Amino acid sequence: MRVAIGGIVHETNTYAVESFGMTTLESFAIMRGEGMRRASGSRTFVGGMLAGGEAGGHELVPIFHTFAQPSGTIEASAYQSMKDELVGGIAEALPVDAVVLDTHGAGIVDGIDDLEADLGAAIRAVISGDIPLLTVLDLHGSITEEMNEVYDYMLGVYDYPHVDMFERGVEAIEAVPGLVNGDWTPTTHVERLPMLLPTSTTDIAPAKDIRQRCLELQGEAGVQRCAFFHGFPFTDIPKAGASIVVTTDGDSALARRTAQQLASEVWDRRDDFRLESLSPEIAITQARKVLAERGGPVVINDTSDNPGGGSPGDSTHLLRALIEMEATNVCFAYIFDPAVAKQAHDAGPGSTIEVALGGKHDDVHGAPLELTVYVKSATDGRFEYTTPMLAGAWAKYGAMARLQVGGPGGLDVLVGSKRSQVFDREVFALHGIDVTGYDIVALKSSQHFRAGFADLATEIITADSPGLTTLRVENFAHPRVDGPRWPLDPDATWEPTAAS
Ligand SMILES: [Zn+2]
Repeated sequence: MRVAIGGIVHETNTYAVESFGMTTLESFAIMRGEGMRRASGSRTFVGGMLAGGEAGGHELVPIFHTFAQPSGTIEASAYQSMKDELVGGIAEALPVDAVVLDTHGAGIVDGIDDLEADLGAAIRAVISGDIPLLTVLDLHGSITEEMNEVYDYMLGVYDYPHVDMFERGVEAIEAVPGLVNGDWTPTTHVERLPMLLPTSTTDIAPAKDIRQRCLELQGEAGVQRCAFFHGFPFTDIPKAGASIVVTTDGDSALARRTAQQLASEVWDRRDDFRLESLSPEIAITQARKVLAERGGPVVINDTSDNPGGGSPGDSTHLLRALIEMEATNVCFAYIFDPAVAKQAHDAGPGSTIEVALGGKHDDVHGAPLELTVYVKSATDGRFEYTTPMLAGAWAKYGAMARLQVGGPGGLDVLVGSKRSQVFDREVFALHGIDVTGYDIVALKSSQHFRAGFADLATEIITADSPGLTTLRVENFAHPRVDGPRWPLDPDATWEPTAAS
């Protein structure tokens, strides 16, 4: 089979526009044509597609793939240019037997609330109607009926941390021959739930239980796939929210019935998805208790400033609390602050400098920290991930430095020049830090870090200061949603979609 692959991947936080503007073309990392094969061997969606193509003896035609860190709404001209390149490339590659995309599901463009439906429709316009169009999707996608109209088959990840991207990529390619040959007819129902879900790892109930229910239902007669999409709460679009997506072989009633069965289970358990929001001070106090009882390292994750959800990555709330509470033997990754990273590089390792660290994007994420720091090391911010989620892919965090606050044994604080959440211990190792020797490992991430840290932490404690990715999703007004949303509106009700 000759299969075109490509994608446009973005998780859009519409509230981030106030902090650092719209997302421009320069924010996107682009792989063109054969350049997409760089992803070969990585545990990403594209890595899975490439492996699936090779295993199945298919002729994959890589077209164009682009990804940006979660951030504000995408500029219309940036999207248009990426879309033109992808759609134009597919048109040039014709004839193909199928098109398989990597999209997120929560992409928003200035003037287009549903990037994925728009992109799919544009591709459908250049390929003939009987060519299967598939997409893999992130668990945080806001899945819509319009997407269901345009894609023949949608394959979402089941896990958060998203450790199964590679497998879903393989599966998407493996599905192609059956669709091309008409062995079965994917028939999908999208049951949207009026819920804005706070971040919920599938390592822990209730999301863990719902994931398990998906797999059980998927084993039932006639049900090909069942996925729980958590949706993305930090977005103000009409269709923001969670959803259940079920695909059967030609049986629309079964798809609807199965999706609604699981949707009602999720809805009944909605209060279980609300987590206690701990201030940094309380999180540190709890960490000290665990340290006294069981030792370390204790991981404190700064969930409200997760660059992987569109926040700036330069919040100072947690770091300030650690300093003010005189925490010692702490390592922290990392504050996004290119100016301070450059200052440290210019001064060089071995120097002592005065910095104003972080807090430079808005008034929400804390003021800059005025500190005297010792520059322990300076690096290029490049390393290979080892987390099961991204192993084989390379991190490029730009110029980075390890700054020591309060001398050796105090706080080792990393500063970087490109926004990213922390996925595994490699960013620390790059700077000579063995996290297992520290009492407290503080990092910016909501859940993905679990895949890289759960096995080494005596405890994981989530700190939730004011921020763009806080657990308190009700802090964000959603004037554009198409109806009441729990928990903003505690009286919101879910009515199963009527049969059409
Ligand atoms: Zn996600």
